Amino acid sequence: MGISPFDIAGKSAIVTGGAMGIGFGVVRRLVEAGANVLIADLNGELAALRMSELEGPGKAASIGIDVSAHDAGRTLVDECIANFGSVDILVNNAGIYPMSPMLDQSLEGWQRVIDINLTGLAFVSKAAAQQMVEQGNGGKIINIASIDALHPSMVGLAAYDSSKGGVLMFTRALALELGPHAITVNAIAPGGINTEGTAAPLQGSGMTAEEMDAMLEQFAAAIPLRRMGEPDDIANVTLFLASPASNYITGELIVVDGGRLLG
Ligand code: NAP
Repeated sequence: MGISPFDIAGKSAIVTGGAMGIGFGVVRRLVEAGANVLIADLNGELAALRMSELEGPGKAASIGIDVSAHDAGRTLVDECIANFGSVDILVNNAGIYPMSPMLDQSLEGWQRVIDINLTGLAFVSKAAAQQMVEQGNGGKIINIASIDALHPSMVGLAAYDSSKGGVLMFTRALALELGPHAITVNAIAPGGINTEGTAAPLQGSGMTAEEMDAMLEQFAAAIPLRRMGEPDDIANVTLFLASPASNYITGELIVVDGGRLLG
């Protein structure tokens, strides 16, 4: 039997925001596929706890980190090398999506979103790319953007939408620069995905469980595939982009939204 084009066994990966939601879904898929994964999250305690939910065959390590911190990229690369010996895959997933109409937006609030979602992603990518170039074996950078990079989904997300539009263009620019090193850089645009982060505002809204169900049903009805996405819907596409099966794809955005942008 030949080697599977989806084989990533023994590769070393960093997943930011990997302690919950989409990030943890990605961690689980990569570890199941045999990659060794550094779970990097603002909530270092939760990241460490979640390692016990993973069954391998890949290994996991964890670190508490803010991706927008000045030296976050170098710290993550050093930690990944200390644990697994190389950096072959980077999944930039950490992101925040606070709601604020632009008419009420504070400068600090705007900057926090851009610092984490765009600047943090860019400089963690820089550090990982420097390491991948030094290793000389190519590499895979996968950025979790959003369908809001293409189309604003609701009022109140001007900072978020701007950051994700920036992620899309950064993905293309970096792909152009890193192509000669056989490092691919791609992005995924999730639609509405059931995560702890998307559930939190609903839980704090004072709605009853029935009202919440009705709202989610209405939301799902507007999606051609008639359901919200699950973290695994994004994790499976991430696995594809992390594997040799996608070696001739770079600078692309893959929309994973159940068809939501169609209508
Ligand atoms: P989530 O449930 O809120 O989980 C995000 C994780 O990232 C949390 O563990 C969070 O830690 C961590 N994090 C936040 N800021 C960080 C920072 N500065 N440094 C390191 N880690 C940080 O989010 P999600 O819904 O899975 O979303 C993940 C990504 O997908 C985001 O980039 C988001 O924009 C994108 N996305 C999500 C959806 C969706 O419907 N869920 C749709 C489109 C795009 P704390 O909990 O401690 O803050």
